Amino acid sequence: MASKRAAVEPWQWPEEQWRRLVNHVRAGRRLAPDRWKDGARCAVALSFDSDHETNELRDGGQSIGRLCWGQYGSRVGVPRILKLLARYGVPATFYVPAVSALLHPDEQRRVVAEGHEIGIHGVIHELNSALPHKGERDLLLRSADTLEQITGVRPVGLRTPSWDFSPHTLAIEKEMGLAYDSSLMADEDCYELLLDGEATGIVELPVEWVRDDAVYFMMHRFQSLRPYTPPPDVFDVFRRELDAAYEDGGLFQLTMHPHVIGYRSRIWIIEELIRHARSKPGVWFATHAQVVDWAKHHAA
Ligand SMILES: [Zn+2]
Repeated sequence: MASKRAAVEPWQWPEEQWRRLVNHVRAGRRLAPDRWKDGARCAVALSFDSDHETNELRDGGQSIGRLCWGQYGSRVGVPRILKLLARYGVPATFYVPAVSALLHPDEQRRVVAEGHEIGIHGVIHELNSALPHKGERDLLLRSADTLEQITGVRPVGLRTPSWDFSPHTLAIEKEMGLAYDSSLMADEDCYELLLDGEATGIVELPVEWVRDDAVYFMMHRFQSLRPYTPPPDVFDVFRRELDAAYEDGGLFQLTMHPHVIGYRSRIWIIEELIRHARSKPGVWFATHAQVVDWAKHHAA
């Protein structure tokens, strides 16, 4: 956070200072397998961030309209997504803030019962970089405990809310014994995270803004935020990412939100992507945890 005016301007920083900042959390060993499970050429990892009402609550918002929009994510979005995934037999990963899980516990139990993974996504979609170390640690531990209490399954991965990663996040993930993170974007393949140059054993399953539905579709009535890309164009971006990942023998990862992609005019994007992937030989659909496990143990 650049809240305090630096006594020394960045262009006056000694080399040691900018190197330390850059090297604090870094991509290490690339974890790209020659072949995915069952000899597959490409892995497809779909994820849904079930933020629901927390997108409004996390800023202290009390708009009933926006809270109801969050409810749509649970009431219409998730069931529609689950129905689609079941029709094609595709597993996915859902990242769920603890408050969202407490508001919609049956939804989380259904997600797990249908063979999907649930990962950590903070308590109330808080921004980690705004928190002190202890506060961030307490919230992340509480997030994991809450999801375990509700679903009976201890989560093994974290997606930081808003992909906001503090200087303490990686050390907390290590302390929690997590298998992976999915919030950073130093590569398109999985990689091992380094903390101050030391290997952590934690795998990054990288995300990207270009592979996030919210970038193209989000709307805020009282801010300047508007959807700016028609659904066929969003599909085109995602399909090209998928085709190129397939050519590379790599990983296609996608981030979506039930209250963003769940609409009648948009849900077809996921279905067409699944059908497109299925039309190619050797595509493995997996949860993020499954992709990480395979990449870690079969890296070339
Ligand atoms: Zn989120």
